[in-house]
Amino acid sequence: GSLVRGGDEPEERAIEAALRPKNLDDFVGQARVRQQLKLVLEASRLRGKSSDHVLLSGPPGLGKTTLAMIIAAEMNAPLRISSGPAIQHAGDLAAILSSLSEGEVLFLDEIHRMSRPAEEMLYMAMEDFRVDIVVGKGAGATAIPLELPPFTLVGATTRAGLLPGPLRDRFGFTGHLEFYTVEELELVLRRSAGLLDLKVSSAGFSEIAGRSRGTPRIANRLLRRVRDWALVHGVEQIDARAAGAALDMYEVDSRGLDRLDRSVLDALVTKFGGGPVGLSTLAIAVGEEPETVETVAEPFLVREGLVGRTPRGRIAMAAAWTHLGFAVPDGVFG
Ligand code: ADP
Repeated sequence: GSLVRGGDEPEERAIEAALRPKNLDDFVGQARVRQQLKLVLEASRLRGKSSDHVLLSGPPGLGKTTLAMIIAAEMNAPLRISSGPAIQHAGDLAAILSSLSEGEVLFLDEIHRMSRPAEEMLYMAMEDFRVDIVVGKGAGATAIPLELPPFTLVGATTRAGLLPGPLRDRFGFTGHLEFYTVEELELVLRRSAGLLDLKVSSAGFSEIAGRSRGTPRIANRLLRRVRDWALVHGVEQIDARAAGAALDMYEVDSRGLDRLDRSVLDALVTKFGGGPVGLSTLAIAVGEEPETVETVAEPFLVREGLVGRTPRGRIAMAAAWTHLGFAVPDGVFG
């Protein structure tokens, strides 16, 4: 797979776990969310009760799982991890909820992907710490109420707008995670390099940070690839040139675009004169499914101001022409 999108291999996850900050003070950036969370946690400590339920929203890799772990650690509470897609039946959720211990933190990733019946069970559990377990079928079905120990739910979703209102309303606090600035990513990288015992110059950090798409997970992943490169090339101190050469080799360019992103841009500019061109035509030109182009490449290209969406199709913005090394033709937006 691509370096900026990465995989889900055990080794990848192990290193990711090792690089996770363990408390709020080590968590870089997101100043507002951090401050708000601190307050929520402090208040619950003073009340001697488990914290309000917390919803974290934002794109993958920005630190939602990390924050859930930090919340549990700061509350001195055990943490249980599951996800929306893993809970297909209300019974799956009942099994998890009924086995929670008092004060436990339950992290539900991709909470917007839970099934409807499970979602309805969750409403009641969040509000009243109670669920109804339905036994039997049809006319003989009986609902047996089951008391739950007080727990704190930490839900994560890529977009808070995907959640049904009643579910959203049951969270006492919602934190929106934003993409990180290059300076913040440099701090993330500095910390990770320390843990990995890597020597990187300031310019080296900013070179890697600038290619990390505003995302700590990607920054850490690129750092590890740079580390491999430096090891093989016998480079002891990683400067901007070394970092750049390593990431060029992995086809992550100076703005963090990977091969797919660049082939979409390149097709748009060189085959369709900058567009507008329809999604399916563009997808055929790069040999991908329209879905892949739309969900994998486009969000970042649009966010970076490289591609625009119009009613008549996709267009290359001025920055796209420049990025590919072309002069910007007259009349191009951007
Ligand atoms: P999400 O759950 O939002 O997909 P994660 O919490 O799994 O993201 O974070 C992905 C990786 O990025 C982790 O290895 C973590 O160490 C790192 N990371 C995320 N946010 C931060 C941060 N604010 N400071 C330092 N490292 C971070």
